[in-house]
Amino acid sequence: MDPIDKFREYIKEKGLRNTPERETIIEEIFCTHDHFDADELFLRLRNKRRRISKASLYRTIPLLIESGLIKEVYFENGHRHYEQIYGYKHHCHLRCANCGKIIEFADDEVVKIQERIGKKYGFVITSHRFELVGYCPQCAKRGVGRKRRQLFTKERGKEAR
Ligand SMILES: [Zn+2]
Ligand SMILES: [Zn+2]
Repeated sequence: MDPIDKFREYIKEKGLRNTPERETIIEEIFCTHDHFDADELFLRLRNKRRRISKASLYRTIPLLIESGLIKEVYFENGHRHYEQIYGYKHHCHLRCANCGKIIEFADDEVVKIQERIGKKYGFVITSHRFELVGYCPQCAKRGVGRKRRQLFTKERGKEAR
C-alpha cells in the first residue's frame, strides 16, 4: 500500500475529512528519505510552489504520526525532527552536535541489548530509540568540541580514581 492510501485508510477510520493539502505534504515527505523539522518541510514545499499554510502543516503532522507514516526522531534547538518510517527499515542515528549531520545505522548488538533488558525487567519491547550524539569526522578533524571532549575525558578519569 502506498503512503497516501495508508493515510486515506486512517482518515476514514477516524471519520475525518481528507484534504488535498495533506496528500501534497505526504508526497513531499516520501519523495526522499530525510530528517526534517516542520519549518524545513514548509520551505521544501514552498520552493516547489506548493501552497500550504504553516498552520495546516502543523495540524497535519500529528495525524501523520498517528497514522504511522512518520515519527519524531530527535529534539534539537527547540525543534522536533521527524522522518518517514512507513515502509522504511528500522535504524538508529548518529547525530553531529555541530553541523547537524545524521548518519543512520543498524546493528544487531542493539537488538540484543533490547532483548536482554526486556527480559530483565519483564518488558515486552515493541520499539526503541537509540541516538548517539557527538561530532562527525569532518567537524572532529576541524577541532570542534575538543574542549568538551577533554572535559569529558577528565571527568571520566576522576570517576575512575
Ligand atoms: Zn559535523
Ligand atoms: Zn533516520
